[in-house]
Amino acid sequence: MSTGRQIVCGHGGQINRLPVDRSPSRRDAYSIAPEEHTMNVDKAVLTFAGFVVLLGLALGPVLAAFDSWLGAAYLCVLAVYAVAVSVSSMTLALRAADARMLPWLPLVYLAIHGGAGAMTTVSDRSARRRALLTAVRAGRDILRAAGSALDAVIEAVRMMEDDPLFNAGFGSLLNSEGGVEMDASVMAFDKRSRGSHVGIKPIGAGAVANVTMIRNPVVLARAVLETSSHVMLAGSGAERFARDVGIERCSPEALISDRARDRFATFRQTSAVTSDGTVGAVALDQTGALAAATSSGGLAGKMPGRIGDSAIIGAGTYAGSLGAASATGFGEAIIKLTLCRDAISALRLCHPQIAADRVVANLGGSTGSVAGIIIVDRRGRLGFAHNATSMEIAYSSSSTAIRHQRLKPIRAAAR
Ligand code: ASP
Repeated sequence: MSTGRQIVCGHGGQINRLPVDRSPSRRDAYSIAPEEHTMNVDKAVLTFAGFVVLLGLALGPVLAAFDSWLGAAYLCVLAVYAVAVSVSSMTLALRAADARMLPWLPLVYLAIHGGAGAMTTVSDRSARRRALLTAVRAGRDILRAAGSALDAVIEAVRMMEDDPLFNAGFGSLLNSEGGVEMDASVMAFDKRSRGSHVGIKPIGAGAVANVTMIRNPVVLARAVLETSSHVMLAGSGAERFARDVGIERCSPEALISDRARDRFATFRQTSAVTSDGTVGAVALDQTGALAAATSSGGLAGKMPGRIGDSAIIGAGTYAGSLGAASATGFGEAIIKLTLCRDAISALRLCHPQIAADRVVANLGGSTGSVAGIIIVDRRGRLGFAHNATSMEIAYSSSSTAIRHQRLKPIRAAAR
């Protein structure tokens, strides 16, 4: 991955800005548009009524024309066709309106990433693929069993934090003095929530920065969301809070993997500040709630005390009424552009894939830096993009299938 010291603007200064909705009727970012919901339901009911009328109109002449088995068979085919089209169009319209209206059709929308950065070594490829698939499967199973989007993203990220292949939790990359300093954040949007897992309002957010003794920073970020009146805790205060809420602490050395030691040795020779392997997840659950979580050891060789985007709500993590996003890449650029918030705002106007492409292209064009993002919107549509050398994701977009993908960069990374 490119770094603060190495970055050059590699995109000719071209800035691909997102279109901004300036209409006076622009909705509040946190409100579900009730008119849109009603419109979809109306469309479904009208479609169904239309087919019933058509069937009725067809019935008379056909009966008159065929007083035979052929007529009866024709009518049966017509009836089956009308019912099939009605049910499928109603299903599509209801799915578009609100996931909660399809209890018989469990929706499982989850995507995770293992960081944007350098190409994975050949020896690690299959292990990383397996790790991503295992984490996405665990999250998928939670959603399939009617668990919450928040539970699913926390579990998927927690599993990746425990895996030394990733730059989060155990295996975090080391700062310029050889120490571990980790960031994590989580955000959830649940419009039904009245003081349950996301607090008093429908939006809940929790983050920790610069923690050194916590094996699963994402679990601590969730505790900040659920049991504190704050959004972010840092350093020793966060660690004291962990003790108070019963989250196990460990020695900082216990979080240092052999891989991180090797990377530190490389840093001492080259002084290159690099990163990859940050982890994140986004999910939409069966009730329509959305959540995103991100966790990172940050940049290898960073200054002690540096806080990256993975701890910053709106930059590395965001969830609102329109969708949820998790980012990875050069944190300083992601923070300056509030990448995830920007991507979710763009969902008012476009598909998550277009939003992902645009915000990453904008970041590359305006800062010359590299980043990646994953997005799920409130209809369960997914979007992924990065402009680094490599980024791997895994996702589940039905109740059964899970997939791993090595994403192509949208354009060459600045080097
Ligand atoms: N975004 C992380 C940071 O800057 C690093 C990464 O995603 O690789 O701390």
